[in-house]
Formats: sequence, structure tokens, C-alpha cells
Amino acid sequence: MGFRAKIGLEVHAQLLTDSKMFCGCSTKFGETANSQCCPVCSGIPGTLPVANRQAVEFVIKTGLALNCRVAERCRFARKNYFYPDMPKNYQISQYEEPLTFDGHIEVAVDDQTVRIGIRRVHLEEDTGKNFHLPDGTSLVEYNRAGVPLMEIVTEPDFGSAEQVRAYLTKLRELLRYLGVSSGNMEEGAMRCEPTVNVVNDETGERTEKVEIKNLASIRGVYEAVKYEIRRQLRAVEEGEPIRQETRRWSEEKHETQVMRSKESAEDYMYFPDPDLVPMAPGADWVAAIRAGLPELPDQWRYRLTSEHRLSAAEADALVATGSASYYQAVVDLGAPPKQASNWVMGPLTSELNARSLPVERSPVAPAGIAELIRLVAEGRITGKIARDVFPRIFQTGKTAAEVVAAEGLEVVGGADELGPIVDQAIADNPRAVEDYRAGKQKAKGALVGAVMRATKGQADPETLNRLIDERLGTG
Ligand SMILES: [Zn+2]
Repeated sequence: MGFRAKIGLEVHAQLLTDSKMFCGCSTKFGETANSQCCPVCSGIPGTLPVANRQAVEFVIKTGLALNCRVAERCRFARKNYFYPDMPKNYQISQYEEPLTFDGHIEVAVDDQTVRIGIRRVHLEEDTGKNFHLPDGTSLVEYNRAGVPLMEIVTEPDFGSAEQVRAYLTKLRELLRYLGVSSGNMEEGAMRCEPTVNVVNDETGERTEKVEIKNLASIRGVYEAVKYEIRRQLRAVEEGEPIRQETRRWSEEKHETQVMRSKESAEDYMYFPDPDLVPMAPGADWVAAIRAGLPELPDQWRYRLTSEHRLSAAEADALVATGSASYYQAVVDLGAPPKQASNWVMGPLTSELNARSLPVERSPVAPAGIAELIRLVAEGRITGKIARDVFPRIFQTGKTAAEVVAAEGLEVVGGADELGPIVDQAIADNPRAVEDYRAGKQKAKGALVGAVMRATKGQADPETLNRLIDERLGTG
């Protein structure tokens, strides 16, 4: 029929500031209900809001990372609506004058890269939370009211649920690298509202836009968008109308359901907030923020594959898990990139995962990994011993050299030390000797294994292999 999906996204991300957007109340999560409120964030008449400078900086940072322009001058606006979780009965947001605007980001799905336009990244405040109890009473919790919230709005440039998923994954990673938001959708620190319709480019025919709410994970967004595209395409096929409305995603029923007909911007009677002065971020300040941007995920991936010669999969694993800086520190201490990557994504990550620790809180510093790699490179311990002792280094906080010395794990490497053990292994395994002499390479493994068992894995593999061949005249 020639119809294709057209999807736009609004993402709200809570900013990681210590205090709220317009007052000094703490933003700490999980404290006693209504213990983090003051006259300003409770909306007491006569109080005056003061904008949080760090929140403004975080939005500029994000805008710059998304290739946006920064407004030379902009204002906060009041978005008027009445709901118990919003004590002022208006939300301070930005309407016609966003802080940053006109950006873009590239998103790759399979081998196709699409450019997604970023319409605006602006600043607003979060609402409180309503709790509806089974007995019919409702409670309101205001600790979240006034927490800085960043809204990132895209152009309707997505053509599939897969692109939406790739964008959200990339955006969340970017917010974490910038240190501006945890991006955690499960905890509500990042929320996403897609708008979906289908259009026929030839005839110009299109369905009304439908907004989807109640999405608590990237997977949920992906499934809801996929469902909604199918629903609209089916409606078009059957000649059913699609109404402009807001629908909620039901995880249980796996479908979108009508929530309410969509409000339009006019319903909110926006006007500039007279209590707040206009913002005019100076060019010097913006330049300083730009200069202070950390290395971003795409730049990391590029550098790790081009300069460090890691594979795309290795670079992606380091960047996506947030281990790239740690890895870089190991390399800076002299470890070869490939080995550093293997150690960080292998033994280190599995120990961290077993204890649900982020890499920043690893009890083993990058120097500990670099030391292990060096001990193996110098031939002082075998690769196997290095992997064996790693959990003990992780648990005890001792250095690799300490554990190796205390447990006598140094390589048994000299020919005089290994020689008699190799002779014994040859004497004990006549069958393997015969097979190996007959050309069966695998049979050598039995001899190597016997020596490794006798030395508890401490035999230097190179010397061992050479000795076996010398003894059997097979080299
Ligand atoms: Zn307050």
C-alpha cells in the first residue's frame, strides 16, 4: 500500500544534580516521603525560584554532544495544568525558547546509518508522584517535585522500532558518558514517549499522530512502537480511522490502549515565567563547556578500533559496559591493547558482575591488571596461573606479585628444573609417546598435561614443548 511508519521521540531524563531545579532541596532518591520539600518546590505563593546553574550546564553539555546550537538568550515558560502531583498548578518548562536546538545524531541499524534530527533539548522541572491505594484514598509525594528534568525531542525521523531502540540505547550511553543522568528507565530517571503515525508518500495520506505513554524500558518502547505501527497499518488497510490520542502500553496484554484524547499545546496556556530572568549563556561559558566534554562513545569506538586495533566487537563491549576508561588506564601502564581488553572484559568483568559492582568501584585497580599481564609477559607466571590467582587478588586486595610469592606460583621454567619432570612424564605415558612419534600431534597434549599437573600449571609452556621434542627427537 506504500505506507511507512514515521516516529518521533520525547525523552525526559532526570539530571544528576545534588539540588532541585529552582530551590536548594536535595534530589536524593528513596528518602522519607515529603522530607525534601521547601516553600519554593511546594508552590507557596510569594516564593521565588532561582535556576540551578549546574542543571543549565548539563543541558548545554548534552545539547553540544547532540550537535545542537545553544541559544544566546532564552526563557522559562509556565505550562499550566491542574494535577495534584504539581503543587504550583503549573510546571516551569521551556516552550518557544529552548536552551539548545537544531542538532542531530547518527544511529546505525544493521549496516544502515540514519541521521535523526534533534529538534530541541530543554530544561524543566519534574512533578511529584501520586499513589492510589486499594481503599480508594490517594497519597501525594513531593520529594520529586522540582527535580531538574531535561527533555530531548527528536524530529519524526525514525522509520522503524529497531531505529528507535538503537537511538535510545545510544542516547542512554551518551548521557552516562556525559555524567548528566543515570539514564535508568527502570527507576524512572529516563522516560520515553514515542509519537507514531503512518504516511503514504505518494498520496500524502497519513494517520493522526498517536502518543504512547507508560513505557518502563527500552524493550517496552521497542515493542509498543512495533505494535502501534502494525495497529495503524491494519486500520489503514481496513479503512478504519486512527484518532489523535494518547495510548498507554500494557506490558501484561502486550498492546496499546486508549488513555485520553491528546491535548494540544494551546490547552496549556504557555507564557514566559515572570519570576525568572531570561538566561543568556555567554559564549565563553559555552566554549568552556565544549572544551570540557569528555571523550564520547563514538569517539572511543573509533579510537579503539583505529589506534588500538581492537575488533569492533571488542571496542563495543568496552564502551557499552562503561569499561573503556579503565581499559585505557591498563594500556597506559604498558599492557598491550588486546590483552588489556581480554582481561577487562573477561576475568575482571565476571568478578564485578558476580558482586554487582560497577567498574569504578573495582577493588583491583588498573595497575593490578597491568601487573598480571606483565608477569605473564616476563615469563614469571603462566597465563593459567594468572587467571587462577585473579579471584584471590580481587578478594584480598593483595597485589599479583604478593600472591604469586606467597603461594610459590612462579613459573618452573629452567630446563634443569623441568627436565626430570618431562622424563617422568615420558616414562609414565608410553602410549602417548608412541602416538606422538607416529605423527599424532594431539598425543603431545597428554605429555604436556602430565607435566602441567605435576607442576600445578606452573611449567613454562615454551620450554616444556621444546624439552618434549628434544627428548623424543620430534622437534
Ligand atoms: Zn525545595
